[in-house]
Amino acid sequence: HLDRIAQVDDFVHAFLHVNADGAVEAARAVDARLAAGDAPVSPLAGVPLALKDVMTTVDMPTTCGSRTLEGWRPPYDATVTRRLREAGVPILGKTNMDEFAMGSSTENSAFGPSHNPWDHARIPGGSGGGSSASVAAFEAPLAIGTDTGGSIRQPGAVTGTVGVKPTYGGVSRYGLVAFSSSLDQAGPCTRTVLDAALLHEVIAGHDPMDSTSIDAPVPPVVAAARQGLTGDLTGVKVGVVKEFGGDGYQPGVLRSFEAAVEQLRALGAEVVEVSCPHFTYALPAYYLIAPSECSSNLARFDAMRYGLRVGDDGGHSAEEVMSLTREAGFGAEVKRRIMLGTYALSSGYYDAYYGSAQKVRTLITRDFEAAFERVDVLVSPTTPTTAFKIGERVDDPMAMYLADLCTIPSNLAGNAAMSVPSGLSDEDGLPVGLQIMAPALADDRLYRVGAAYE
Ligand code: GLN
Repeated sequence: HLDRIAQVDDFVHAFLHVNADGAVEAARAVDARLAAGDAPVSPLAGVPLALKDVMTTVDMPTTCGSRTLEGWRPPYDATVTRRLREAGVPILGKTNMDEFAMGSSTENSAFGPSHNPWDHARIPGGSGGGSSASVAAFEAPLAIGTDTGGSIRQPGAVTGTVGVKPTYGGVSRYGLVAFSSSLDQAGPCTRTVLDAALLHEVIAGHDPMDSTSIDAPVPPVVAAARQGLTGDLTGVKVGVVKEFGGDGYQPGVLRSFEAAVEQLRALGAEVVEVSCPHFTYALPAYYLIAPSECSSNLARFDAMRYGLRVGDDGGHSAEEVMSLTREAGFGAEVKRRIMLGTYALSSGYYDAYYGSAQKVRTLITRDFEAAFERVDVLVSPTTPTTAFKIGERVDDPMAMYLADLCTIPSNLAGNAAMSVPSGLSDEDGLPVGLQIMAPALADDRLYRVGAAYE
């Protein structure tokens, strides 16, 4: 994989940092253990992985795609990083992302965009475009992404790979640099559903270092994936969300989705139509809640604690140094979100904006609850369109935000969701994803249906 990275990463730009020596050392440790006659520490021991650059790593930089953190070395490993190391997974390097995970294309990275291996002129999705592109380009068999509004599933869909957002609280957020703490969740990016399940089991589970981590057994995702591989979905009830589709969706994407639903039926699933009327308001609610939390979380980048410091020359006050550093260190999208969030949280506006958005969030959660009384999983296209061209949406934030139309509801409700490859669009020959959604703590259902379908 290191050779492959050397061959193709100038073209893909999936990596911000390659950890060649560290990865080889970790692989040698696995070999040494086997040579001594000991059993491997996990089913993924020795299988290399690409890590999104939002997870802290003591032996590698962690930039979150931002100038603000350029040159910063975290003093501790994220829990996800630690679990990977303990499982004998060599970490190939850190992957490119939209700055602080805000975006849908990796074009907001301060270090230049990643490219879609299917078409170099197109985006690999975002914010975790580097992770999914590395898997699609065979630079890594496994990667870790994080999904606040779709950043694992949308890149998975547009690169023809699997992406899973586990139940909120299922995977520790300790050491995951926070964007929107009530939504952020790390998960697997892989080429098959079974690979995703194996990785899910390595990273999931209760962590006392994260107060929102769920203290419950990890859902039996590997067993569910194996059951799914038998190709039998008899007894599974699938709901098609009526509100997803129509204007703004490419006809090729919708045709692929109809074919996917037919295939689920052919595998034995019972398919019904389900209405989730408040999903229409998910996008506006998200773009109040996520920026509000981000404006608070990113206050810690104050020029004192981390990385960049501008104007510290004796001629500026501490406040000026903070403001010069934030001016130089943050990109346009991050500044836009901080301003939106600060505005939405200001006194007098709080109830109108943030308060309303929280009420919508509750209504969306109730839509899901009502739907899951009737069906085991919900399905939809993962994205309204296939990969768009680099540059096409950079000047139009609304167009960029629409990429997450179908993925955001599961984040707001804290539910589990997966994108699984659904063939190529008959319109432009680019990958399309099928989104599968399950209730919180029922991640195993995604794996059963996803493995049967893929
Ligand atoms: N594209 C969405 C945003 O820009 C989602 C990002 C994410 O999931 N990290 O906020």
